[in-house]
Amino acid sequence: MASPTLDKTDKPDKRRNLGDLTLVWDRVRAYPRHLLVALLALVTTSAATIAIPAGFKRVIDHGFGSGSSANVNASFHYLLMIVVVLAIGTAVRFYFVSWLGERVVADIRARVQRHLLGLTPRFFEENRPSEIASRLTSDTALIETVVGTTVSVALRNCFTGIGGMVYLFAISPKLAGLLLLGIPLIILPVTIFGRRIRNLSRASQDRIADVGSIAIMTAIMIGLIFGSITLVMWEGASDVASGRLTGGSMFAFVVTGGIVAGAFGALTEVYGDLLRGAGAAGRLAELLREEPEIARPQVPVPLPVPVTGALTFDHVRFHYPTRPDVAALADYNLRIAPGETVAVVGPSGAGKSTLFQLAERFYDPDAGAITLDGVDLREADPAAIRAQIAMVPQDTVIFGATARDNLRYGDWAASDEALWAAAEAANAADFLRRLPDGLDTYLGEGGARLSGGQRQRVAIARALLRDAPILLLDEATSALDAGSERLVQEALERLMETRTTLVIAHRLATVRAANRIVVMDEGRIVEEGNHAALIATGGLYARLASLQFNEAA
Ligand code: ATP
Repeated sequence: MASPTLDKTDKPDKRRNLGDLTLVWDRVRAYPRHLLVALLALVTTSAATIAIPAGFKRVIDHGFGSGSSANVNASFHYLLMIVVVLAIGTAVRFYFVSWLGERVVADIRARVQRHLLGLTPRFFEENRPSEIASRLTSDTALIETVVGTTVSVALRNCFTGIGGMVYLFAISPKLAGLLLLGIPLIILPVTIFGRRIRNLSRASQDRIADVGSIAIMTAIMIGLIFGSITLVMWEGASDVASGRLTGGSMFAFVVTGGIVAGAFGALTEVYGDLLRGAGAAGRLAELLREEPEIARPQVPVPLPVPVTGALTFDHVRFHYPTRPDVAALADYNLRIAPGETVAVVGPSGAGKSTLFQLAERFYDPDAGAITLDGVDLREADPAAIRAQIAMVPQDTVIFGATARDNLRYGDWAASDEALWAAAEAANAADFLRRLPDGLDTYLGEGGARLSGGQRQRVAIARALLRDAPILLLDEATSALDAGSERLVQEALERLMETRTTLVIAHRLATVRAANRIVVMDEGRIVEEGNHAALIATGGLYARLASLQFNEAA
C-alpha cells in the first residue's frame, strides 16, 4: 500500500504539468450546457473585441472620409452595436464562467470530503490536519480561480489573439508578416523580463536595492516592444502615403496589433496561474488516491432510509493491530436505542475512544458484531456509515481559513442561511457576528483567534450542519468559565436532543442529565446507572466522580 503520508513539498508546481487539471476538466464537463454558453460568450466577446478596430476603420474611411452624415451615423450605429454585443457577451461570460467555477469547486470539495470519510485514523495521525484542511480550502479555492478566471482569461486571449492575427492578415498581409517576424522581439522580452521582474518584485519586498534593476529591465522591455511597433508603423505609413492602404486600415491595424500583443502577453502571464492550479489539482488528486484500509464490501447492505440510530455492540472483542497483547474491548455489550443519550465514563485507557473508532468502522472487531439499525457494520459501506455520524472531538480543529469554510466543514453545500441557523443553535452566532468581517473573517491557524469555548461551539455548529442521526461526542476536559460553560452546555443539549448520542463525559452537567451512564474499565462495562444511583453504590464511578467532576464537591 502507498505511504499514507502526503507529499508536503512547498514547490510541487515544478513537477506538475497541466495534465493534473483533468480532475477539474472532468467536473467541468459534467455541465455541458453551462460550458457551451460560456464558450459561446467567450468566442462572441473575442470577436466583438476584434470588431471594434474594424468599426473604427469604417468610421475613418467611410464616415469621415465620405463627407456624408448618413455614412457617419451608419458607422457609429455599427460601432454602438458591437459595444452592446461586447457588453452583453461579457456579462453572460462572467456569469456562466463564475457559476462553473463555484459549482466545480463545490463538487470537488464534496468528493474529497466523501473520500476522507473513508480513510482510517492512521491517515489522520500521519498527516497534519492543517495539511489536509489546506487542501480542502486553499487548493480548492485555487481551482475556483483557475476555472472561474484563469481558464476564461486564457481562452479569451487565445481567441482574441488568433482572431486578431487573422484580421491583421486581412488588412495587410505584408504588414502582418512583418509584425509576425517582430513577435519574438515582443514576446521574448515579455516572458523573460516579465518573469524576472515578478521574481524580483517578490524578493525585493526585503531588498530595496533590486528596485534599480527592475527599472532598467522595464525600460529595455518597453524599448524593444515600442521599437518594433514603430518600425512596422513606419512601413504602414509609407503604404498609406502611397495610397496602397487607407488611413482607417492603418489605424485598425495598429489598434488590432496592440490587442493581439496584449492577448499573447496575457497568455504567458496566465500560464503560471494554470500551472499553480494544476499543482492544486494534483495535490487533491493525491488525496483522492489514498486507499481506504477498511474495504467496501462488494455488495454493501444498504442502511435503512432514514436511519433511526439504533446502535449495538454485541459481544465485541477488539485488539488494535499494533497492540495484540491488550484487549481494548473485551466481550463488550451495549445497546443504545434511537435518540437515547449514553454517557461513557472510565479511567484513561479504559477503551472509551475505541468505542468511537469501531462505531465509525475505522476498525472491525476481532469477535462479536456492531450493528446500526440492525445492519452489521462489516456488511455496510464505510462511507455510508460515516455519513450517519457526526463527531464532536475533544480538541476542535480550526483551520487556517475563513469562518465560513470552518463551519462548512460540516457540510460544504450549506448556504449562508443554513450556516447562521446552525451557528444560532450552537450559541456561536453572537461571536461570529462580532468578527470584523463576519463569516469572511480569517480564523488563524489552529483557531488562534477563538477562545476554547468558541471553538467548541464551532464544532457543535459543524455537527448540527452534518445533521446525522448519530452523535459521537468527546467532551473537552479543559475548564471553561461559567458563562462559556453554560453556552456550550445549552448548545450540546440542543445537538443531542434528537440524536442517538454516545458521549465520553467530562462534565458534571452531562452526567447529571444522562439517565444512563456506562462506567468502563479495561475494555469492559463495570457499572451502569444514573448519577445518583452510581454515587450511592460507592464504586469506581463514585471514585472517578470525586476526581473528574470535582465541581461536584
Ligand atoms: P483516554 O480517556 O485516555 O482517552 P480511553 O478510555 O479513550 O482513554 P482508548 O483510547 O480507547 O482509551 O484505549 C484503550 C486501549 O487501547 C489502551 O490500552 C490504549 O493504549 C490502546 N490504544 C488506543 N489507541 C490505540 C492505537 N491507535 N494503537 C494501539 N493501541 C491503542
